[in-house]
Amino acid sequence: MKRGLLMALVVVVALDAAPAPAAEDAYGERRQRMVQEIAAHALSAGNLSGRPALDDRVMAAMARVPRHAFVPEDRRESAYDNRPLPIGYGQTISQPYIVALMTDLLELEADHVALEVGTGSGYQAAILAELVSRVYSIEIIEPLARAAAARLNRLGFDKVATRHGDGYYGWEAYAPFDVIIVTAAASHVPPPLIAQLKPGGRMVIPVGSSFLTQYLMMVEKDSQGRVTNRQILPVRFVPLKGGP
Ligand code: SAH
Repeated sequence: MKRGLLMALVVVVALDAAPAPAAEDAYGERRQRMVQEIAAHALSAGNLSGRPALDDRVMAAMARVPRHAFVPEDRRESAYDNRPLPIGYGQTISQPYIVALMTDLLELEADHVALEVGTGSGYQAAILAELVSRVYSIEIIEPLARAAAARLNRLGFDKVATRHGDGYYGWEAYAPFDVIIVTAAASHVPPPLIAQLKPGGRMVIPVGSSFLTQYLMMVEKDSQGRVTNRQILPVRFVPLKGGP
């Protein structure tokens, strides 16, 4: 009787404590491997992207944020593969290399305020939150917006504010932004986003037709407010909805 109770206690304690750290360790190792794959990918794509090595701070953020917590339950085993994954509603969480490259291109500073268009799972927003002071992120599909907000809150990413809405028009109330990242492909750079970029600010955005040729573009606004665009590399994103 006594022994039975003790056994039961041991089982309860074991269920409560042991499996979680073990699983965390397994994910930790996979996350390290993912970071190595990102580094290798960056090197091999370096001629195209102009960024053969990504910023250490970006890589450290990729090594910290638990990507498995941002993918659907049944995709967790693939969470640290260097490829995009479906997140429902026809949308995807971007490939880790692309997340890292776009983050690197923004040249983030600790006091920056960032706008993201296309919250999706919330993963990119979480990576940004590791590197800047405030992140505003907009998602047009309401259930995704709601799920991402709850997830970011649960994981403690309290620098991120999210909103359900059409990010084509930006987030006027918190503009201007030091950096803007758009994670869905637009046919053109939305003029409201250019207007909401600070002088000296940078925006990365995939531009091109829905599923055909798209280019990751770097949009820079200089201190005089002059805007220049340049192509970084060909990419493939889900289309940006909304707009006029
Ligand atoms: N950054 C996301 C990737 C999401 S995929 C992540 O880390 O998981 C692109 C997202 O953009 C999709 O969720 C899609 O619904 C959203 N989207 C498309 N058009 C939009 C718009 N006009 N405004 C806000 N979000 C939009």
